[in-house]
Amino acid sequence: MTATVADRTVGTVSPRPVDDLSGSGEHTHAVLIVGAGFSGIGMAIRLRQEGIHDAVVLERASTLGGTWRDNTYPGSACDVMSLLYSFSFAPSTTWAHTFGKQPEILAYLQECSERFGISDQIRYNQEVVEARWDERESVWTVHTGDTQYRARVLVNATGYLSDPSLPDVPGVADFTGRIVHTSAWDAEIDLTGKRVAVVGTGASAIQVVPAIQPQVESLDLYQRTPAWVAPKPDKEITDREKWVRRNLPGYQRFRRNFNKYGREVLIPMLSRPAVMEKTLQGQALKMLGEQIEDPQLREQLTPDYTVGCKRILFSNAYYPALAASNTTLVPSAVTGFTETGVVADGVERPADVVVLATGFQATKRPVADRIVGRDGQSLTDAWSQTMSAYLGTTVHGFPNLFLMLGPNTALGHSSQTVMIEAQIEYVLGALRTMQDRGVAALEVREEVQRSYVEWLQNRFEGTVWQSGGCTSWYQDSTGHNPSIWPTFTWTFRKQTRNFRAADYALVTTPVRASA
Ligand code: NAP
Repeated sequence: MTATVADRTVGTVSPRPVDDLSGSGEHTHAVLIVGAGFSGIGMAIRLRQEGIHDAVVLERASTLGGTWRDNTYPGSACDVMSLLYSFSFAPSTTWAHTFGKQPEILAYLQECSERFGISDQIRYNQEVVEARWDERESVWTVHTGDTQYRARVLVNATGYLSDPSLPDVPGVADFTGRIVHTSAWDAEIDLTGKRVAVVGTGASAIQVVPAIQPQVESLDLYQRTPAWVAPKPDKEITDREKWVRRNLPGYQRFRRNFNKYGREVLIPMLSRPAVMEKTLQGQALKMLGEQIEDPQLREQLTPDYTVGCKRILFSNAYYPALAASNTTLVPSAVTGFTETGVVADGVERPADVVVLATGFQATKRPVADRIVGRDGQSLTDAWSQTMSAYLGTTVHGFPNLFLMLGPNTALGHSSQTVMIEAQIEYVLGALRTMQDRGVAALEVREEVQRSYVEWLQNRFEGTVWQSGGCTSWYQDSTGHNPSIWPTFTWTFRKQTRNFRAADYALVTTPVRASA
C-alpha cells in the first residue's frame, strides 16, 4: 500500500535527510530556490551561513535582483528607509539617500550575493516550467525547459511583484505607438518631446510621473481612483552621517530598530479607520492643499476612502508634477486604445507612448499553476477559493515546499525584509528539524492551516483594509484579502521563531510505491 505524508508515517530514521541528496546525481540538490530576488538571495545566504551549501537558485532572467532588477522606470525608488529595507545581517554604510533608489538597491543585492559567496549558486535563464512533488522519493522534480533538477526541499521565492497586471481593454494591438509597463522598462525609450499617457496612480505611477513630466511634451495621467499621498522625508546622507554609520558601533542597528519598531505605531491606527482619518489623512490633505491650488484638480485628487485602505504613498514631487502646465489629469479608467491614442470616458486622447503603471498579479500568482503537489494538485487548484498558507509559508498538500512572501505576508506599514527574514529563519528551523529527526518530508496539517487562516482573517475585522471603503490589489476578485499581514510584525516574528514539528505530518523515510 502506498503511504502518504498525511498518514504521518514514521519509519526508519534516515540520517541527514536534507543533505542526503547532495551530489547523488547531476542537478540533484538539497534545496532548490526559485527566484534570485530579495527573498531568494536572502534564503541562499542564510542557508550557506548555516552550513547548507548545496542550495541552488533558479532564476528565469539573466541577472539577479527580482523586482529591483525589473523596475527600472524613471524615479524608481523605495519608500522604506534603506537602513530597514536591507538585511539585518548585511547592513550597508554607503546608502546615498534615506530612501534607496532602484540602482543602489539592485547594487546592494549584487554586493550581498558576492560578499556572502552565493553568486556561483545561481543558475540564470532557468525559468521553472513545472515543479512536481515525487511522492515515492520524497523529492521535488523541477523542469526549466532545458534542464531537470531534483531536490528534497523547494523554496519558492518569486514574490508578488513579479508578473505585471495589464488592463483588460480592447485595442491594445491596434495602438501604433509604444506601450511599456513600469516593470518592463526599456532604457532606450526617449520620452523627450513626446505625448505620454500614464495609466494608474499607485506607488509606481507616483514615482514615474514627476520623473518624466519635465521632459515630455504633454502628460495625461489616467486616474481610476485617487491615491492618498503623504510627504516623503527623504534626504541625502551626508559624509558625516556616513562616517558615524561606519565608525560608531551599534549606531546602525539602533537606527534600524528605532525605525522598525516605530513603524509598528501604525498598526493600532490601521486597525481603526477613524484614527487614520484624524491623523495621517489630515497630513495628506494638508500637503494636497498646499501643493494643488486649482480647486477642481484638488477635488479630483481627493480620495473618498480612508487612508491606508490602499497602500499609503509617499512623495513630495507628485502633486507639483500634476499641477504643471503640460500635465492633464484624466479622472477616468482607461477603457480602450485606438491606433493613435487612449480612450477613457468615451473620449480618445492622442498619445505617442503609453506607460502602464497598472501593478502586478499579486493575488493570482502565475507560478502557482506550475507547482504541483501531492495527488497531482497544483497550487492554483489548492487556491481555487482564495490563496492561503500556514504562516504565509507552507500549504497542506505540498510537502517540503516553502513559500517566501506567500499569502498574507505583504506589509502596508513596514519593510518587507522584516517578513522575509522571519520566514527565512522559520525555513531554517524546518530544515534543522528534518536534519535532527531524519525527516524526509513534512507537510503542514490541514486543520493547523485552517485554524491559522481563520485566526488571521478575523484580524481584518474593523481594520482599514476591510472597512476603509476601497478596492485594492490586496484583495482578490471575491473581496477576500490574501495579501496583507494585518497586525504587528513582531507577532509574525514570534509565530515563526520556532518551527513546531507538531504542526506538521512527518515522514521519516521516502515513501515508495511498493512499501
Ligand atoms: P498598483 O498599486 O496595483 O496600482 C495600479 C494602478 O493602476 C491603480 O491606480 C489602478 O487603479 C490603476 N489601473 C488599473 N487598471 C486601470 C485602468 N484600466 N485605467 C486606469 N487605471 C487603472 O501598482 P503599482 O503602482 O505598480 O504598485 C504595486 C505595489 O508595488 C505597491 O503597492 C508596492 O507594494 C510596490 N511598489 C513599491 C514601491 C516602493 O516605493 N516601495 C514603489 C513601487 C511599487 P485602482 O486604484 O482604481 O485599482
